[in-house]
Parts: sequence; structure tokens; C-alpha cells
Amino acid sequence: MSNYIPEDKVSEIKNTADIVDVVSEVVHLKRSGKNYLGLCPFHSEKTPSFTVSPEKQIFYCFGCATGGNVFSFLMKHDGISFPDAARMLARRHGIDIPTQAMSPDQKRRISERENLLAINREAMDFFRQELLGGASGKRAMAYLKKRGMDKEILDSFNLGYAPEGWDNLVNFFSKKKIPHALVEKSGLIVSRKNKSGFYDRFRDRIIFPIFDLSMQVIGFGGRVMDDSMPKYLNSPETPVYNKRRSLYGIHRAKKKCRESGSVYIVEGYFDLLSLHQHGIENAVATLGTALTTEHVQLLKGYADRVVLVFDSDDAGIKAALRSIGIFMRGEVDASIIVLPAGYDPDSYLFEFGYESFINAASKAHGIMSFLIDSAVKKHGLSIEGKIRVISELKEPLASINDNMKRSLYIKELAERVSIDEAAVLEKIREVSAQKNKGAKGAKWSNDDDPRGSRKTGVQDKVQGKALNGKWGRLERQIIVMMLQFPQIIPEITERNILDFFEDKGLKSIGQLVLKHKDYSKVQVSDVMNLIDDKEQKNLIASLAMGEDIWDHESCRVILARFESIRNRSERKLIEQIKAAEKDNDLELLAKLLNKKQKMAVLSEKKKMTLLR
Ligand SMILES: [Zn+2]
Repeated sequence: MSNYIPEDKVSEIKNTADIVDVVSEVVHLKRSGKNYLGLCPFHSEKTPSFTVSPEKQIFYCFGCATGGNVFSFLMKHDGISFPDAARMLARRHGIDIPTQAMSPDQKRRISERENLLAINREAMDFFRQELLGGASGKRAMAYLKKRGMDKEILDSFNLGYAPEGWDNLVNFFSKKKIPHALVEKSGLIVSRKNKSGFYDRFRDRIIFPIFDLSMQVIGFGGRVMDDSMPKYLNSPETPVYNKRRSLYGIHRAKKKCRESGSVYIVEGYFDLLSLHQHGIENAVATLGTALTTEHVQLLKGYADRVVLVFDSDDAGIKAALRSIGIFMRGEVDASIIVLPAGYDPDSYLFEFGYESFINAASKAHGIMSFLIDSAVKKHGLSIEGKIRVISELKEPLASINDNMKRSLYIKELAERVSIDEAAVLEKIREVSAQKNKGAKGAKWSNDDDPRGSRKTGVQDKVQGKALNGKWGRLERQIIVMMLQFPQIIPEITERNILDFFEDKGLKSIGQLVLKHKDYSKVQVSDVMNLIDDKEQKNLIASLAMGEDIWDHESCRVILARFESIRNRSERKLIEQIKAAEKDNDLELLAKLLNKKQKMAVLSEKKKMTLLR
């Protein structure tokens, strides 16, 4: 798999890119002894079990058994291929990768992503040029000034302007000789329905380039400057732009999010820019979609407190209901601020300023408390009102999976409406019972993480595989010593230890380690580059992450035990053969003899090497 990129380049990248730096971009890591610890970006957890070893240049999560090196981390986190991950790291560290090493097909596949990113970058420069120097850009600039936007903010977010007319961008790319069919894939131009040719998607709009965490332009948002509709237009989903995973402003916010441990989420582009302009830089905006599990996963690498900012009760309630499932899984603390009627974050900040906003934020309610509050406000506390409040909240309450959280909120609700806690509980049980009857797809529970169960499955498999019985445990220990104490490898080769392995997965890992010419420099992260199988990668990471201390003595003890068990099982096999002969069980006998044959071959091989 690594042959798309020359081996020497892979090792150059590997030697330059530090896994702690790369992981730190998305996971908040804290030093813990020799390693770093953080909340796993691949499964939901409250206490960190995601471990990164700077010394071994690998990561491993003790919660979901996912592990690998710097390349596998990027592949998994960003959903990209090995060559893409390698290229991304190479770019970041200024390492040149020759393209001629790739076949035409490989080139095509890998380059589509890069081409689209390059097209987006060119388009961003075009829009920017139009805003700063174009004749019609003056109007756009005047509009931005009127909205109070500083030049600094416009520059730092690379705002631009898509001029009036149907083919400005089409012509721009024609002049650059970039095929329209390719540009079309970026969503920037659209093919005409009935006639041949293409037209610009964004026309006479302020343009907001959307960046990912590694500062690449993945898409665009465009806003009109008057009341025409649609007010906002976004790039469609493309191979580089996935709305569920993208947050506007994340590239500028990540540092402050990490420093403060919190993040504000607003809905609009201008809201976001206003926050930044007013010095609140730990802020991002969703892009015309509800907050997704992926967004939360992305953010929790930076912050463990999320504050949703809304401009009306209604918008807040809707969003709270939509996202309750995501937050109640307990990955991050979420609260909601609703601004006074008639204000959005943008207008609020320009009128009342930073202090006032921060003050409002400090009074933000937890999501469930916010819902209780809104329901009480809406229905009042008459008997009828109380009944409506309970009936409105029973479903969201039932959707909270965390028992402790649920009972705390039930208590809060019961106190708020002065109803017996048991009565509230009874209502919620009704909902749960109905749900369990198979009323699946209830709107509160449709965000269940589908990976949850699968991950545990993998974990069982990984551990089960290697921990099966004494034999398996020893095989596992031998691989660990090979990874952690490579000095023992010559002895392992000499004694043909791997040939007697029963666990095929462990055996092939061992064989990969042996492939390294220079034992003294066996690096776990290198071995990982030779493996495609994700489960095997996880297994290696789990084996290598331990802090065992090895010396020749302790290694030899384990090898001797392994051999003696093997000899014992050989003796046991002979006894079984004798018994099968006695019982006349021909089928079993054939099987056992076959096994013995295999063992004999191995023993012979071993004797030969010992004699040599
Ligand atoms: Zn995990």
C-alpha cells in the first residue's frame, strides 16, 4: 500500500512528522508519565483512555482498541487513504513527493482530491481579488463595512466576492485551461440543463471560504447583499466537502478552543465573524445543518464544554431537541444561550459588546434545564400547564441513556413543577416501554451511534484472539518482546519460534517484524506501515503500548516455557493418537496424524537450524 509513495519519502515523512503534534491538532492531550493521554476521537468516553507514545510514535485506545501510527491516525480520523495521509503530512513539513512513481490510475484517484482542493484555492483567490480590486467588489466591500466588519477579520477569514454574471468563474478556469468537468466536481460551476456549457453557482454574493483543520479550502458559502432568496447558498457535498464533518471557522478557532476548553456554536457566518471580531475566538458555525455527532466528535478534541448560541427561543428549542441525543451521551457538557428577542449574536455583540455577551454566556443553561425552562414558560404552572409540561418533556427525558443524568433531570423537573418525582418517573417509563416495544425511529433516539456496538465487538475480538488460553498468552508475550526488545529477535529466528505459533494474526505480525533487516532499529510504527488490516494494526498498537521492561534473561524464560508447552502438546498428541487407534476412530486418527506430520516437519526444521 505504501508503494504509491517512494519508501524513502515515507520514512522521511515519518521521521519528520511527530505523532504527538499531529494528534494534538484534534485531541486535547495531557502528559502522563512517558505518554500522553486524551479523550478518544474514535469512541465516546468521559475519562481519557486514548494514549499516544512519543517514544514509539504510535497511539492506542484502551477503550475501543484502536491503534496505529501517525499515518493510520490521519487515515482513520480524516477518512483518507494512506497516500493521502502521507501527502498531507509531506505538505505540512515541506517534503516534496515525486509524482512519477505512481501509475496513471493511482495518479487519477489520488489527484482528484488534490485537484479539487487546488481548484477551491484558485477560486478563493479569484473571489478575493474581486472583492479587493474588482469594479463591482466596491459595493460588496461597502456592504461588509456597513455590517461593521474589520479589514483584519475579512483577511483572516479570506472573505471574497462572486461578481454578477453567469460565467465569470467559468471563464476564469477556461483561461487557466482547467477542464470544466473537473471544476464542476467542486460544485463551483453547474452544467446547464438543456444547453451545453456551464454557469457559475455563486453570483453577486459575499463569499465565505470554508476551511478544514489543516487549512485547506473545502467549500464555500455565499450570501446575498439584499433581501433576495436564497439568502445563503453553500457548496454541494463533494469528495472534499462533507457538511456533517465541517464547521465554519474551525481553522481559526481551534487554538482558542483548546486554551479555554470551551467552544461557542452559532448558526450564521456573520454571527461567527462578529464573535471573532469581538475577541471571542473560540467559536465556530454550523453550515446550514443541525449539529451532528461528527461535529461533536471533531470539537471534543478541543473543548469539553459546548455553548450553543441562538437568537430565539424557538430556534433554541428546536436545536436543543435535535441535538439532545448527541449531548446526552455525555461526551461534552452542552449549554444553551438564547439572546433577547430581536437579536442575533451579530447584532447583540455590536450593540452590547464583549462583556455583556460573556455575562450572558456565564448564565447559560444546560440543555435539559433549558427545555424544562422553556416548557414551563410556554405552558405555565396551572394544573393543565403542568400536565402539558410533563408530556412535552417525557420523550427527551426518556432518551437520556445515562441513568444518573436522567434521574437528576427528573428530580429537577419534579421540583420545578412541584409534582411527585415518582409520578414523573412513571410517565417516562411509559415512553421507554413503548420504545422498547419496537417503536424505533422515535425522533429523540435517531442519533444513536451505530459504531458503539461494533467497536466493542472489535475489542472483544482483538483481546479474545490473543488471550485465548495459555498458549495464546505466551504467543502474545513473545510478540510484545519482539516489539519492545528487538535484541531478542535473532534468538527467535534461530529457534524458529514463530513457526509454532497457532494464532495466525500474531504469527504474521511476528513475520513482519522479522522482515526488518536491521533488528536493532525495529520501530513499531514502521511495522504498521506494512500492514493493511486494521485489526492487526490495533493489535500491534495494543501489544507495543505496554511499559514492560525486558532483558535477555526474562525473554529466554518465556521462550523456554513456550517450547516446553509445545513439547508437552506434542506428547499429548501422541497419547491422543494412541487412544484413537485403540477406539478405531479413523476419522480422528487421520486428523491427528496430519497434525503430527506438521509438527514433525517443524521439529525437523528446528533441528536443522540448531545443527547449523
Ligand atoms: Zn477509543
